[in-house]
This record gives sequence, structure tokens and C-alpha cells, in this order.
Amino acid sequence: MIVKKNNLKQVLAILVLLLATSASLLSSVQVPGKIKLFRVLVIIGDQWQDPASYMVEGAKPTGEYSGYDAKPVVTGADDFHHLTILLKSWGIPFDVVRLDQQFLDRYMFLDMKNNPRYGTIIWDVNNSEKLLRPDYSIIKDMVENYGIGLIALSDRIFQPEIQSLLGLKYNGSWESNSTLNVSSKHFITEGLISPFRIDSGIIEHVQRQQVEVLKGTITLVEQGSFPQVTVKEYASGAHVAWIGNDHNWLFFYQNMRTILRRAITWTIGYNIYKTWDNDLVMIMDDPGGAQSSWLEHWRYPVLTEDIIDKYLIKPLQEHNAVLNINFVAGYVNDSERRLEPTWIRTYTDGFGAKQDYPSSKRGYDKGVKLGVFEVMCHGLTHMQPDLVSEPVWYGSALDQEKAEVGWYREFGDTRRNKEIPPAEQTWRMNTAKEWITNQFGVVPLEFCPGGLGTSVSYFGNTPKLAGEAGFGWCGWETGYLGKDMVIIGWKFFGTSESPSLVQVPPDAHDFGISREPEKFAAVFSQYPGGHFISMNEFIGYLHAQNKGIWNSGTDNLNITLGYDPHYCRYFNTHSTNWNLEFSDWLLKVADTPKVKIDGKMVSGSYTRVEIPSGTGEHTIEVKF
Ligand SMILES: [Zn+2]
Repeated sequence: MIVKKNNLKQVLAILVLLLATSASLLSSVQVPGKIKLFRVLVIIGDQWQDPASYMVEGAKPTGEYSGYDAKPVVTGADDFHHLTILLKSWGIPFDVVRLDQQFLDRYMFLDMKNNPRYGTIIWDVNNSEKLLRPDYSIIKDMVENYGIGLIALSDRIFQPEIQSLLGLKYNGSWESNSTLNVSSKHFITEGLISPFRIDSGIIEHVQRQQVEVLKGTITLVEQGSFPQVTVKEYASGAHVAWIGNDHNWLFFYQNMRTILRRAITWTIGYNIYKTWDNDLVMIMDDPGGAQSSWLEHWRYPVLTEDIIDKYLIKPLQEHNAVLNINFVAGYVNDSERRLEPTWIRTYTDGFGAKQDYPSSKRGYDKGVKLGVFEVMCHGLTHMQPDLVSEPVWYGSALDQEKAEVGWYREFGDTRRNKEIPPAEQTWRMNTAKEWITNQFGVVPLEFCPGGLGTSVSYFGNTPKLAGEAGFGWCGWETGYLGKDMVIIGWKFFGTSESPSLVQVPPDAHDFGISREPEKFAAVFSQYPGGHFISMNEFIGYLHAQNKGIWNSGTDNLNITLGYDPHYCRYFNTHSTNWNLEFSDWLLKVADTPKVKIDGKMVSGSYTRVEIPSGTGEHTIEVKF
């Protein structure tokens, strides 16, 4: 073939173009291990009971026998429930893939340009016939070729591909009560005290995993002579870890929770997380409710301005503490046979007690203004929506229907033993929120159903409806509410993973304060050194949307803290602080980090970073 001079130029131009195109294609291909995202992908089997992927609940009994005695006491799997609590409490962002409804796909892990979307995977896939034929070789590809980290849990490692990645051969699990002990010094186990101690109150029959450790894998923790925590590193920059022990009980060891958190740091290279040691959320229920005038065994005069000021506000100010109060927005007026907003009336009730709601309101307003009271929502009336039909509350005698406690529950019909319809519950939640916002000038973020009366069916589920209504936490201990999920049955209170919940002395209610107000201040000597924090502060951290990207090519780490204006509203007027942690291998490849927060250089320690007040986005830039 003869190529004319002009044509040769054209061919060369085309060749250059082709080369340029392939170069740009190449440049968009991920260089293994060079980019680490601060986001975790939790992969589970069929542990999520809610087919709509919204409610996360603790395990229910399976009906199986334990083998210990002749009772069907075996509970289902709790590992996914525990994982969601831990990740939310630390403020570590995550997504969930459930293999009973999803097919594993490489683009679950990669963006359109083949860059990783996650820094690490938490592998918690149980052995179930309900899984949709997952292709586990995808996980191998992501770890070996894209440098994404992997943390596998307990016995969820039956898949040969996962065992191969971990460098383990899995043999099964059998009961053992021998102790867990650190066997090798490592970033993940640094400072942990052996033998590991299980949380107080937890006594269970625990399964010990048995694995053979293959070449290249290091054992960090042993139970007896059996490895229970192992790690391995890959040329791709990927780090993998396995955390053994019993999938239902391992996270009741503080050390195992710390190991999971450190494994996240070690596999991603860095971590920004919240811990809650010495934090306490003190709660008082019921102000504003009408039951104090109607319920014989719960009758008392509402607190006056003087009592609130002298016995609550003063000691709270002295101790720089917050009392979180579940207020009732509405009042049931028996003589008018209707609902009306609380805080209006002064009268002497049928038991002879003076009820001065306006005085009470002045006292609570003062504490809210001074920042020692946090405003929370205890529903609209703390009473049944239906006071009209049989056996009829309106107009009944104080020593007959009015004396039945079932009337003083709002979100479950405890007088007639049935549920409250979902739309009625939602109206009550929204109206209570609106009224309390108007009454106190504060949007309540916590919702607590009165007397714990709730509905539990799927569509009527009270915490689920409260989550959909925009609350951020349910009840005293029910748990996280968000648009992404609700977690029912929170755990780990009073550990690094969650503040303690403290009942206001003497009885968790304004009722107790009305009888023995001097008992309140004793709470500060019961918890010396404790920080009595606002529930809205806790909720703000649970709802933080943090992101991060580390690029080893430029040695830059950029973290964005995202504070939603609704759920994180506490941060409008309060600074926040987080633990910033770098893994040993990241510090080894980099110099001492220089940290900038919102553009300003931070001097001194960078391990606990303080972020100025304000919702919206804040930035942490780290230059190594
Ligand atoms: Zn109550």
C-alpha cells in the first residue's frame, strides 16, 4: 500500500489521537491502593428482617432448642443489629448490601471510572439458602486489584474466596468459655488489656471459631490456642482482618468493639470517629401532662417556677450540666371534653392539689433559655386518643375509669388492648412537635411515647412512624431514628460506644421532684467526673454525614463533616469534637501530618479535633 505524504500526516494524527484516548482511559483507571475513601460497605446475608430495609431490630427467638436445656431459647442473629449500632454511634458512614435481595456486582464497589467507592468492606454474610447466587470472586477482585480493605466477622467466612483473602482455612465453631488474649503487638491491639472482659451482666454460652492460619497471615488475638483475630496485607495496598468469636456475643467485649473500630482505621488508613466515655444523658419525663390531675396513684401538683429554679436550674448551672425533659404538648380538659395546648390553666384538681401550669412554664422557659434544659417530645397528651367510646374516660369518676393507668398511654391502646392506627399516631407526633416548637422555641428531636405505650405491627410500628416524622432518636433507650433507617433496641449504653442514660432522681419524673426536690442534686455526686450532655448533642453526632478521601499520590487527606441543619441543629451554637486517627502504615509512608480545620492550621495534638460551631459542611485538610 502506498501512503501519500498528506495521508501519512493524517494517519499519524489518528495514531496520536488514539494514543491520547487510550492514555486518558488509562489515567482514569484506578491505581491500586492509591485512594482510600472514608466510607464502609457492610455486606450481609439475610439478617435484615425488614424486607423494606428500614427497621433494624434485635434478634427474635428462632424456636430452636439450645442444647443446654429443653427450652426453645435460641435467638436469631444479632450481628447486623450490633454493627449498625456501633457504626452509627461512632459516626462512621456506611451503606448496606443484603445478599438475600441483591446480586453482588463490581459497581457496588466502584464508581463509573472504576475508582473505589469504599475504603473498606465489613463482611457479615451468613450461610443461608435465601442468598441470590452471589459471585464471591468480585470481593477477591476488589481487595487484590483495587486495594479496598476487608474486615470479616466470626463464622461468616464459610465462602472459600473469603477464606483465601483472609489467609485462613475455616474449620467450624464449638462452645468454649476460655478467655481471649492479645498474642501479638499490632496497631489494632495496642494498649488492650488481656484477658478480655465481657460487659457486666452478660453471661452466655459462646461459640469459639476454629481456623488454620496460612502463610502470610498474622494472629493478633487467641482464645486458648485458637486464633480469633488475624490480619494480612496485600501488594495492592489492601489490608484485611478477621474478627472471630461468637457472632451474637463478640461485641459485648469492649476490646472486640475497639478492635473493630481500629480495624476500620487500619484497613482504610485513617478514621474520624466519636466516643462517649463519661458522657451521660439525664432524662426527666412528663411535664405538661394532665395525668397528675386525674390518675390517683400518680397525682401531684405540677412543679412551680420557684421549685424549678431552686432545685433544678441552680444545681444544673453549678455543674455545667443539662437535664433532658420529655414535655407533653397538649392537655386533656375533662369539663370541656376536648384537647387543648398545655400550660394555660391554674386550678385546684379533684384531689385538692393546686395546678399552676403558667408558673411551671415560666420555670421551664428559664431553664431552656439558660441552656440547662433540653426540650424533647413526650407526645401530644400522654393519654388515649379515644376517650369517648367504651369504657369512656370523659366524665368518669376519679376512683373508677380515671384511676385506670391504661388511659394514660398514647401510642398503644392499653385500655382496650389494641394498637393505635398509624395515621392517628403520625398526626399526634407532628402536632406535638409543632406545639412544642411553638411553646419553647425549640424543635424537639427526641420522641418518647408516654408510659412506653407503643404499637408494634409493621405498619403501625411507633418508632418507625417517629423516624418517618423526622425525629432523630426514640424513647429513652429505643434508638436511632433517621430517614435512612431506624434502629430499635439500642445497646452498649455506658461504654465508649454510647452515653449512659440516667434517670433524674428520685424517680425519673417531675412527680418525684414534686415530693422530694432536694434529692435531685445528689445525681452529681453519684457520677463524679461525668458530663451531663444534651440529647440533641448525641443525636447530632449520630446524624453527622462525614466523608473523606486520601490520595497517596499527593499525600493529601480531605475530610468533610456534614451537619444536617435539622438533625444536627445543636451544632448551630456548639462546637463539636472528634477523634482523628491514622494507622501506623499511613504515618510510616507520610511525615508528621499538618492539619487544617476550616482552612485554619491546628497547632499541637491532632488526635482530638475541635470543629467550630455551625451546621452545614466543615473541612479537615491533612497534608503529610
Ligand atoms: Zn411519661
